[in-house]
Amino acid sequence: MNPEHMPDNPYLLLTPGPLSTTQTVKSAMFRDWCTWDEEYNAVVQQIRHRLVRLGTHSDNYTAVLMQGSGTFSVEATLTTAVPGNGKLLVLANGAYGRRIADIARRCGIAYDVQDSGELAPPDLLQLKTALQSDDAITHVAVVHCETTTGMLNPVEAIGSIVKHGKRTFIVDAMSSFGGIPIDVEKMGVDYLISSANKCIQGVPGFGFVIARTAVLERTQGQARSLSLDLYDQWRTMQDHHGKWRFTSPTHVVRAFFQALLELEAEGGVAARHSRYCENHRILVEGMQRLGFQPLLSAERQSPIITAFLSPTHAAWSFDAFYSALKSRRFVIYPGKVTDHDTFRIGNIGDVHAEDMHRLIAAVAETTAADHAVGEAPT
Ligand SMILES: *Cc1c(COP(=O)(O)O)cnc(C)c1O
Repeated sequence: MNPEHMPDNPYLLLTPGPLSTTQTVKSAMFRDWCTWDEEYNAVVQQIRHRLVRLGTHSDNYTAVLMQGSGTFSVEATLTTAVPGNGKLLVLANGAYGRRIADIARRCGIAYDVQDSGELAPPDLLQLKTALQSDDAITHVAVVHCETTTGMLNPVEAIGSIVKHGKRTFIVDAMSSFGGIPIDVEKMGVDYLISSANKCIQGVPGFGFVIARTAVLERTQGQARSLSLDLYDQWRTMQDHHGKWRFTSPTHVVRAFFQALLELEAEGGVAARHSRYCENHRILVEGMQRLGFQPLLSAERQSPIITAFLSPTHAAWSFDAFYSALKSRRFVIYPGKVTDHDTFRIGNIGDVHAEDMHRLIAAVAETTAADHAVGEAPT
């Protein structure tokens, strides 16, 4: 079937992923692959190589792909990296940081949580103190862009403390990798986790880990799960030149390769970051003009997703606002912050300045004269 005959997408996704992807990324899925064939495995090797290069110029890193959504890769990393006698310190300031702690609890990993609250970055002094006073801690984990609020955590400052304390550093960069320049070596990162359907702009189906090879090499036999054994997955991909242990999402993998080529064609991560920053600027300035306030101050805010405070007047209804925007072909996201009523708007994916201008015009229409905010679209 010719992709040109497919119906248009009914809406643009302004979410933290899955995202709106290009027609060419979607079209790359119109082919079936044999997972044993070297042509397919060569695509996997290309992907692994390019992922490492997106994260560092250093030769000390390797990449592993893992089936499932992003959380599966977080769980694979934690349950493989932290040995039975190890202890994980989680720096949490949102739902995804808390999820890391949940995984540790469910999988029997010893852990502590330093929760700085959803509106504050991790407390660096408290981190230093913990690393000095608790010898049991072997690993530290943090989220780079905490998608709950859109907060960008100071990964480089945290990494320097963790490296100084000689601990292993795990970063969930799910919603930032590919959209914000990252240098894993410079940031002291040992494991960086992300997935196919966020800033690389692929479709959902697998996650990946960029790992310091010398650290990953020491984790043989530590995994608490067979299918999520990051070491075994890596070993098989290394030894068999791009082979996955179990059935891989072949179409998704091929689409991801196309997405990587398109990231390169755009000008790499720096160029994509500029586009996202411009999208974000148009979004925030436009929303502020219409009376909406972002939850976070500008210096903590990522150019990925923004939480806005819900209006306090009685007529406000998120559901009505959501439907009104959906009927104008934009899909936004509900809030996830505990103590504030918020909604979120993402600006990543195949989303451009003109889309953000059209969104602001649509928001202006739905909120015209204020009284319309609480009404369903006609
Ligand atoms: C999207 C995301 C994840 C993974 O979510 P999945 O639904 O499992 O793909 C993890 N951490 C962060 C910060 C995210 O934004």
